[in-house]
Amino acid sequence: MKFCPHCGAEIADDVRFCPTCGKETVIVVKSDDPVFDPQDVADNRMLAMLGYFSMGILPMIGCRNSAFAMHHVNQALWLCIGAFLCALVCIIPVLGWIVAGIGSIVLLVFEIIGIVRALKGSGAYLPFIKGLPVIIK
Ligand SMILES: [Zn+2]
Repeated sequence: MKFCPHCGAEIADDVRFCPTCGKETVIVVKSDDPVFDPQDVADNRMLAMLGYFSMGILPMIGCRNSAFAMHHVNQALWLCIGAFLCALVCIIPVLGWIVAGIGSIVLLVFEIIGIVRALKGSGAYLPFIKGLPVIIK
């Protein structure tokens, strides 16, 4: 079973046009997310994941040549910068604390998403980070 991407109706796997809304059910998935060498991903996903716990240091030591791990190192570093900014706005009483509190929760959620994606071998970008400059190539 699959679901129509247009109206959400449940449809059989081999049906090309949705019987409910009549639209084509095969959609080309467009993604700007980078694709990595499966061997690279298989070899280095543990280190890529550990990058989120070590400010990117462990993968930079363990697999500096891994494009997949460096992709996650970049995201881990941007999360560190975010955490630093959250600490910085704490200087401002009340408003800064609120901003820092919300920011910290968002960063924690991103961190968890990044860890799960590294383990799953996904190179998908975290929200917001995509447009940011690459720190480690
Ligand atoms: Zn439909």
